[in-house]
Order: sequence, then structure tokens, then C-alpha cells
Amino acid sequence: MKAYTYIDKGRFELTDKPKPEIAAPDDAIVRVTLSSICSSDLHIRHGSVPRAVKGITVGHEMVGIVESVGSGVTSVKPGDRVTVNVETFCGECFFCKKGFVNNCSDPDGGWALGCRIDGGQTYYVRVPHADCGLNKIPDNVTDEQALFVGDILATGYWAARISEISPDDTVLIIGAGPTGLCTLQCVLLHNPANIVVCEIDRTRRDFVRQHYPQVTVTTPEDCLKTVRTLSSHGGADRVIEVAGNAETFRMAWECARPNAIVTIVALYDTPQMLPLPDMYGKNLTFKTGGVDGCDCEEILRLIAGGHIDTTAMITHRYPLSRIESAYRTFENRLDGVIKVAVYPD
Ligand SMILES: [Zn+2]
Ligand SMILES: [Zn+2]
Repeated sequence: MKAYTYIDKGRFELTDKPKPEIAAPDDAIVRVTLSSICSSDLHIRHGSVPRAVKGITVGHEMVGIVESVGSGVTSVKPGDRVTVNVETFCGECFFCKKGFVNNCSDPDGGWALGCRIDGGQTYYVRVPHADCGLNKIPDNVTDEQALFVGDILATGYWAARISEISPDDTVLIIGAGPTGLCTLQCVLLHNPANIVVCEIDRTRRDFVRQHYPQVTVTTPEDCLKTVRTLSSHGGADRVIEVAGNAETFRMAWECARPNAIVTIVALYDTPQMLPLPDMYGKNLTFKTGGVDGCDCEEILRLIAGGHIDTTAMITHRYPLSRIESAYRTFENRLDGVIKVAVYPD
């Protein structure tokens, strides 16, 4: 079968690989029906993910149909439509039991699919710890609706959850890329008084205005002023930083009111500085890190109930045989792309 493979720094190629087989009792083999490209895939190609293993099939955002399961798998069976979680986790260790599945201490735990083991930009994928890593898609939810559940939508849901949003809050979301848009949908579920989205790119600002008219859209230059105008306490009660550069990091704490929660979801290329003398007395709470993707079942329930719908983010569709074009469009943000969907052909 064709599989999009990490050959070397700067090089991904469609190569031929054997169909994967069950290797452990808790494995499942999933036939991929739809996958996507994430900026983390680009990070692998740029060589900025040191733990990524050369030769693996890339891709960690996918949905599919269970083809076969190992003897220990109980939650899914062949024929089930499923979302695949970006994180592999055991469900048994100290961290998993507390819901911190990102820190699963199992040797396979963490971001394995499409990084350390073969991922989903292909026809079939082997999913370890399948009882934890797969969630059944409700019948009334399409593959396209479910495509982002295991990665960027899980991230947005987690970011909104740990930000402890109250109904009288002004929430600032910095960055309206794919993960920022998923975060926005999940922040809306908490019904805060005001939501401000700050985005540098005009096309993305227009997308937010068009799809979420109840949201205030601003630019990096006007962000602090906008947030202060909307809030009676000198800044945002909650800030979620999803953009990931030095300017947006500074903006995150600058736009926060005293005693605010600042949630950092973004992944930075370089270390960021916390200028503690300038922040003294502001008494901020920072929450940082990678998604605990343990809420996928709840997210699927919300999609089935019509409370979340990310399909408008899928602006482009490509067959697997043209995945090079999909990467080119996504990486260079051509043609107003937000997310691409890749289907088997
Ligand atoms: Zn990703
Ligand atoms: Zn674990």
C-alpha cells in the first residue's frame, strides 16, 4: 500500500509498504477513510521534531473503520467507524488515571502515531492501546465532522476546559489558525460574556467574522486596546495563546487582567521569556503544555448534538495520490486554505 513517508529532513515521499498487522493483543488495525495534514507534520519535515523516526508513515489526524482487533481489545470491533487519538495512552498508569494522558508513562505513550510509529497518511494504520486510542463515531456524524476530534479539536476542548471560563468572562484567543478556530468553538460552549479573537492574517479574520458574528475580531496592533475596551478590569479574564511566536507570547500576558488565567497551547520554535519584574503584582496563573486528549467521546457527543461543527474548516480535499499538492497548498497557505482532507484513492 502507498504510505506518505518521512525519508529525511526536508523529504516526505509516497512509498510502498506492507499492510500493517496486529502486533500486540491491544492493537487494532484501522482502514483510514479520511486523514488531514497538521502543522506538526510540517515540523517533522523541517527536522524540528528530534524524536520523529525516519522511515515512519506520517499523519496523526485521521478517522477510519476498524479492520481487525487483537484479543485484548474490548471497546471496538471490526466494522466500527472510529476517530483515532493523536496520543497513545494506556489508561492504567498514575497520569492516565488522573486524566493527564499526555504524560502517560507507558513506553508507547504520548505522540507516537505518525512520529515514532507509522501514522495515517496511508490506507491502513496499526493503533496500539486501541481501547484508549479509538472512539466510535456516532451514526449521525460524518467522517468530515469527526476528522479533527483526535487532535486539534481535542486540543481546543482541553484548552477551553483548563482555562476555567465563567459566564462573565472576557476571553481572548490569540491566533485563528486551525487550532485557534477549534479553540474558539469550544470556548463558545462555555458562553463567556465576550470573546475576542486576535489574528494577523486578513483571510483568517474574515473567516471568523463570517462564521462567528458574535465574536469580536482584532489585529495584533489593536488587541490590547480592544480587550481593555471590552473589559472593565483592565484586560481579559482568560487568555488562550494559540499562535506561538514571541510577540503573541508577550501579548498573552500583557492583555491579561490581574489574576487572570493565561493558557499557552502554542508550540514555540524558541524559548520565551517571562519578564517577572514587569509582571510583578499582576499575579497571573499560567497553564502550559500539550493536550490531554481524554475527552474525545464527549466531543463526539457534542458534534452529534449539533454543538460543534468544524467542517467549514475543511477548505480543500485531495486524494492520497496527490498528497504532495495537499502539502504544498497547506504549507504555503495557498487559495485561502485552512485545513485539507485527504481521502484514499
Ligand atoms: Zn497535529
Ligand atoms: Zn498511561
